Amino acid sequence: MTDLTDETLLSPVTPVMSPGAGDVPPIALQETPRKEPPGSDTTRTVVFDVQDLSVRYGDHLAVADVSMEIRKNEITALIGPSGCGKSTVLRCFNRMNDIIDIARINGRISYHGVDLYGKNVDAVEVRRRIGMVFQKPNPFPKSIYDNVAFGPKIAGFSGDMDDIVRDALERAALWDEVKHRLKTSAYSLSGGQQQRLCIARAIATHPDVLLMDEPASALDPIATLRIEDLMQDLKRDYTILIVTHNMQQAARVSDRTAFFNIRVDDEGQRTGYLVEYDRTGTIFTNPNQQATEDYITGRFG
Ligand code: ADP
Repeated sequence: MTDLTDETLLSPVTPVMSPGAGDVPPIALQETPRKEPPGSDTTRTVVFDVQDLSVRYGDHLAVADVSMEIRKNEITALIGPSGCGKSTVLRCFNRMNDIIDIARINGRISYHGVDLYGKNVDAVEVRRRIGMVFQKPNPFPKSIYDNVAFGPKIAGFSGDMDDIVRDALERAALWDEVKHRLKTSAYSLSGGQQQRLCIARAIATHPDVLLMDEPASALDPIATLRIEDLMQDLKRDYTILIVTHNMQQAARVSDRTAFFNIRVDDEGQRTGYLVEYDRTGTIFTNPNQQATEDYITGRFG
């Protein structure tokens, strides 16, 4: 894994990174384990600290009142009814909303203590460190090998590209299925394999965080379970955020769950907001808010 430093994040150009352990920059990580209140369940490092986040699309306040801490090597699930802002919030974590002209973000997200939206932060470097996997597998029209090698080449990785590709495919639990046909088109793979290829592609640039927007919703149940198993393996090395409309999936895979809901104002404007964020076990067995209980027991949504 690449170390995280202010210097590389703030670099105006994408730095040339090598996956070799000997190339880790000498600057200390800005990772201070958060002191938890007595009785708290974890002292894991906080990766993202979100304070009063809100997002507008033009005049529409799409989501507001989001404050949460995302912890390292955990899987955090974002759940809630359609339109409550889950994908919008997910996209804030790697500045994907920057490319939507009418999107405006307020509040603060710090990433390892650095303001993610700070003036000098390089959005390209942000997206290398915070990778994304989408709902529908979207491999490039290239070979399996070239899909995985694409990111490292662009980022100027040195080192043996064959090793980089193999490592990413192994981590994505795809290597054994494709090792004899690396030069064939990615489109020759099944949907589940394509999604694991997209995960390999995201991993190949050595990110720190993986954002997954309903990564299994286009897959059959067996391919879905493979992705869920893979997520459990991946969280040893990565911090994962997943949007899912499947509550059983959130309960199965995640350590923490954020439940979002929608409020409607007098003019009929619909705005998502964070209702409750807690350990997944608590959200599903003993939530604090009636709205959470109603949602997880299927009374609405
Ligand atoms: P969810 O993921 O929970 O279904 P979204 O984040 O997709 O919710 O959407 C939240 C709200 O923001 C919705 O009202 C949606 O119509 C609006 N929205 C999402 N993306 C855009 C966009 N690119 N432009 C304008 N409005 C958007």
